[in-house]
Amino acid sequence: MTQTSGNSLISGRPALVDPFGRQISYIRVSVTDRCDFRCVYCMSEDMTFLPKRDLLTFEELDRLCSAFVNRGTRKIRISGGEPLVRRDIMSLFRSLSRHLTTGALEELTLTTNGSQLERYAQQLADCGVRRINVSLDTLMEDRFKTITRWGDLKQVLAGIDAAQKAGLQIKINAVALKDFNEDEFVPLIRWAHGRGMDLTFIEVMPMGEVDGQRVDQYLPLSQVKAQLLDTFHLDDIDYATGGPARYVRVRETQGRLGFITPLTHNFCEGCNRVRITCTGTLYMCLGQDDAADLRAPLRASSTDDLLLAEMERAIARKPKGHDFVIDRTTQAPAVMRHMSVTGG
Ligand code: SAM
Ligand code: SF4
Repeated sequence: MTQTSGNSLISGRPALVDPFGRQISYIRVSVTDRCDFRCVYCMSEDMTFLPKRDLLTFEELDRLCSAFVNRGTRKIRISGGEPLVRRDIMSLFRSLSRHLTTGALEELTLTTNGSQLERYAQQLADCGVRRINVSLDTLMEDRFKTITRWGDLKQVLAGIDAAQKAGLQIKINAVALKDFNEDEFVPLIRWAHGRGMDLTFIEVMPMGEVDGQRVDQYLPLSQVKAQLLDTFHLDDIDYATGGPARYVRVRETQGRLGFITPLTHNFCEGCNRVRITCTGTLYMCLGQDDAADLRAPLRASSTDDLLLAEMERAIARKPKGHDFVIDRTTQAPAVMRHMSVTGG
């Protein structure tokens, strides 16, 4: 179903369109900056998290998301930090699911590390969640410990089992890490596709300070794709989920394989999304620092006029794209914030 007629929505309000004609139809909302893992490419081990009082309440998050839905957002992805570690997170899913019922929202989904899925999979399905992304970079227990520092692979695999049992479609996201999980790409593909799950490889992005050097983690996916051709036939397909991945079908497994290549192939031209942090800061681009504070207008008035005006002003300055670089001469991260602030 389509919600728009020209630039006018069911809500009667005009859609949010940026200066490059891209309609904002997808928001990613980080509901917490906290996490029960400490993935080496995402966080340092001794992270300082925000005081809980700075976070938007669920009522505020709902109001903010609903304002975007009224202005044309069709897809909401809940992320973090680890979204499922925020206490009573299901109350947010339950309240947002009303927009699925009315048809204003096409998809409500989440990105998770899977650690709490065993507990929440059925409740997510009951809230109308149909597809989820689970991040998993390795199937080896010791490596999993090394990458996540605090994670337990068995718990994540049990979570994936529970999610499939609840009827959720799963896409596995794996970050390609040089000299680390390179030898597992073929087994990961066979495993994911063997269980009926899509798999997407992601290039590591220079976001936030981590322990160690980015350049030591970075593996261009162009190289990965070329290596996979030794084992598989990869057929280009015309499949899009509204995200930045480009997909191929692996002929031997008949499964879908995606590549998210912010560095080797900039994916900004079709960007339809913005990101909101757990404190209500709106980032118009994953790889740029410009941001708008939506918490202040949200708290200043019980009607949405101030909020909508600030949303409009922010979208009017959404940049054309990011300019991520990882090489020996570029030591500083492209942006100082960690991926866990905006949720990927
Ligand atoms: N905790 C959840 C998870 O891990 O799925 C959601 C938040 S996490 C920040 C979202 C995604 O960002 C994960 O798939 C993770 O692998 C990815 N990620 C984190 N830091 C990254 C980086 N520097 N470069 C590329 N991907 C990164
Ligand atoms: Fe946590 Fe996800 Fe970051 Fe790993 S990638 S530390 S699971 S937020």
